Amino acid sequence: MNFELPENMLDEIQANIETIINSFDIPDDNKLDVIKKINFMYSSTKQLSATDALTGLYNRRHFESNFERELLRAKRYNSKLSIAVIDIDYFKNVNDIYGHSAGDYVLKEVAYIALNTIRTTDMLFRYGGEEFVIILTETPREGAVIPLERLRASVENRKFCYKNQEIKVTVSIGLSSDTSAATPCEMFDLADKALYKAKEAGRNRIEY
Ligand code: GH3
Ligand code: MG
Ligand code: MG
Repeated sequence: MNFELPENMLDEIQANIETIINSFDIPDDNKLDVIKKINFMYSSTKQLSATDALTGLYNRRHFESNFERELLRAKRYNSKLSIAVIDIDYFKNVNDIYGHSAGDYVLKEVAYIALNTIRTTDMLFRYGGEEFVIILTETPREGAVIPLERLRASVENRKFCYKNQEIKVTVSIGLSSDTSAATPCEMFDLADKALYKAKEAGRNRIEY
């Protein structure tokens, strides 16, 4: 079963910890300690629920709530917004030829390269398996292509070396900057379709 607490529910619990504690029979001397401990536990739980264990990046769940908010913001203030889906090319081959831990190493390296390529105002997520997503705020298509091309080239030129074996890695990128999309899902699908186009056109490229 896949049971997930919505992020805002955790916030609500945290905001009401004091009230919750007061409903239990805890000696006054200990109350502050208990409140501090529970606060810490909730912060840790919240952090864990938003991140991916392998790369340390924010996960898909965190992406969804952030992207919804950013698209609403872009529509309301008529600002630019771009979203990019990044997929490692032929990643199954990396696992099959070099092993699963080599695959994990490549995933962590690509995450690291991407983190160092984006601007501090952009947000990077591990969407799933070997797919990453970047939300580029206040960024039209022409502005998004520049860091994404830098990312594509960095991955292509990086010497990935695992246990003395050199591994060639490239990524394909799909981009959408169409904030007229009715829903976050629709805008995401446009980027996903562009990614499919990049794969069809030979991989190791950006399409929109
Ligand atoms: P394409 O160029 O069309 O994207 O081909 P691909 O091989 O990258 O795509 P495919 O979807 O066939 O394979 C993705 C692989 O990613 C399969 C799966 O085993 C692997 N994978 C997903 N998550 C992880 C992970 O956390 N670690 C490792 N090592 N492999 C993973
Ligand atoms: Mg994929
Ligand atoms: Mg792939």
